[in-house]
Amino acid sequence: MSSLRGRGLSVWVLGEKVQEFADHPVITPSINAMAETYRLAETDPELATVHSKLTGSRVHRFAHVCESVEDVVAQSRMQRRLGQLTGTCFQRCVGMDAINAGYTTTFRIDSAHGTAYHDRFKEFIAHVQSYNLVVGGAMTDPKGDRSRGPSAQDDPDMFVRIVDRRDGGIVLRGAKTHQTGSLNAHWLVVMPGQRLSDKDAAYAVSAAVPVDDPKLTYVLGRQSCDTRSLEGDVDVGNARYGGQEVTIVFDDVWIPDSRVFMDGEYEFAADLVERFTAYHRRSYVCKAGVGDVLVGAAAEIAAMNGVDRASHVKDKLVESTFLNETIFGTGFAASMAAKPTPAGNYEPDTLLANVCKHHVTKLPYEIARLAQDLAGGLVATMPSDADFENDQVGPVLKKYLKAAPGVHPDDRRRILRLVENMTMGRNAVGYLAESMHGAGSPAAQRVVINKLAQFAEKRAFARRLAGCSACPQSPSSTWTSPPPPPPRN
Ligand SMILES: Cc1cc2nc3c(=O)[nH]c(=O)nc-3n(C[C@H](O)[C@H](O)[C@H](O)COP(=O)(O)OP(=O)(O)OC[C@H]3O[C@@H](n4cnc5c(N)ncnc54)[C@H](O)[C@@H]3O)c2cc1C
Ligand code: SF4
Repeated sequence: MSSLRGRGLSVWVLGEKVQEFADHPVITPSINAMAETYRLAETDPELATVHSKLTGSRVHRFAHVCESVEDVVAQSRMQRRLGQLTGTCFQRCVGMDAINAGYTTTFRIDSAHGTAYHDRFKEFIAHVQSYNLVVGGAMTDPKGDRSRGPSAQDDPDMFVRIVDRRDGGIVLRGAKTHQTGSLNAHWLVVMPGQRLSDKDAAYAVSAAVPVDDPKLTYVLGRQSCDTRSLEGDVDVGNARYGGQEVTIVFDDVWIPDSRVFMDGEYEFAADLVERFTAYHRRSYVCKAGVGDVLVGAAAEIAAMNGVDRASHVKDKLVESTFLNETIFGTGFAASMAAKPTPAGNYEPDTLLANVCKHHVTKLPYEIARLAQDLAGGLVATMPSDADFENDQVGPVLKKYLKAAPGVHPDDRRRILRLVENMTMGRNAVGYLAESMHGAGSPAAQRVVINKLAQFAEKRAFARRLAGCSACPQSPSSTWTSPPPPPPRN
């Protein structure tokens, strides 16, 4: 916490420039969520710390480059646990996935061009590990007209680009949007967000930028019901923890060459994006941890309402659990199927990672729908905490909030507010909208799934069993000569 204070960041919140963002009540819950990643390293060091080859010592798992399948799997376990503990986005995975992807891409650029990015990148990661720092992954640009690439935009600043070279470094201009937890980070790793062409060479840039660079401006994203954090704890629903997204403006930020990891090698932009999304799309098992909280809240409110033994209620909880475990199952499988890269680190299975993220674009919405079903209409119509605490109307409201015997009305409204928080309040940003768009909107996963589906091989399986003749346009590595057709009766 002390490392976040006193950095003099230029931060805008609700139309005002704030002196010390770390003390702002709307921002504090996001700092608490990030702090849980540090706490977990103390309470469960097996889960949240790991031995690093780069430093030769134990480091935080969020700063680690995966050296084995077990490392990749442990990330998934840690992410689910932190989702359970916070009920929101704990903000540290984008940076973790960026350093793991960048580790391989810098190695591949060096192999092709004889550059020295990989060693620089390793030095940067070792620094992050040694000081136990937080890294934000800055990939998404404003993008302007989505039908046009960076160099074809009317305004060239729609994507972050190199605008100058001086004093042994480069100068970056542009903006990155939707940036998770950047204020709570120490470094940003800037990356291109899509495949680039030779015309886009100035946009093919990756570099580490200190969060307190004076040429950066941060504007906090508005979250649904965020100002309830100014009103006390009950109406927030989850007062302790929240996510954070910011827009970051790069106003000619100078970066020394020693922190640049891609500089014009446009043909490797897609490599970095694809590797990053292979990690990040299965990082969304975090939503299974958050889902554990919401399914728990749904079960709790059903019990409070006295309907927990009804068969349709049990079935809705079973359905929610089935959906939630489907998310975890595919993300966990992607991690289990990790393979070594040319650089020697380990990377999740791309197809399964995309299947995981694609489930995440849908299933949390259904889990949220079922939670709202079980909560009843009060989840949207309940009077405020101020009314419940008012001397005149409070006692009457509490009388009419009674439900199953032994349930305290205050506990009932807290659970209702939690369901509201996660399905339409502040943490619905993390549980729903982020599930839809974070790490790429649904169509992006379908493109990858289509690419990796191996339809030719699947067709060959079908033709072989059906007894068809060899199919020339469906070569299969597992089928060299067609079997004889089955006897016809
Ligand atoms: C809560 C949250 C946290 C996030 N955190 C981070 C972060 O930490 N770091 C980071 O870099 N990014 C982050 N993102 C950004 C995320 O990766 C993007 O939101 C995502 O890639 C979609 O981009 P977009 O929001 O610009 O949507 P758009 O690109 O505007 O997409 C909107 C719709 O248009 C479609 N579309 C877009 N382009 C095309 C096209 N060319 N042709 C056809 N259809 C198209 C999409 O499929 C989608 O349906 C975060 C997003 C959210 C919501
Ligand atoms: S949405 Fe999930 S994967 Fe992404 S940073 Fe937040 S907690 Fe991590």
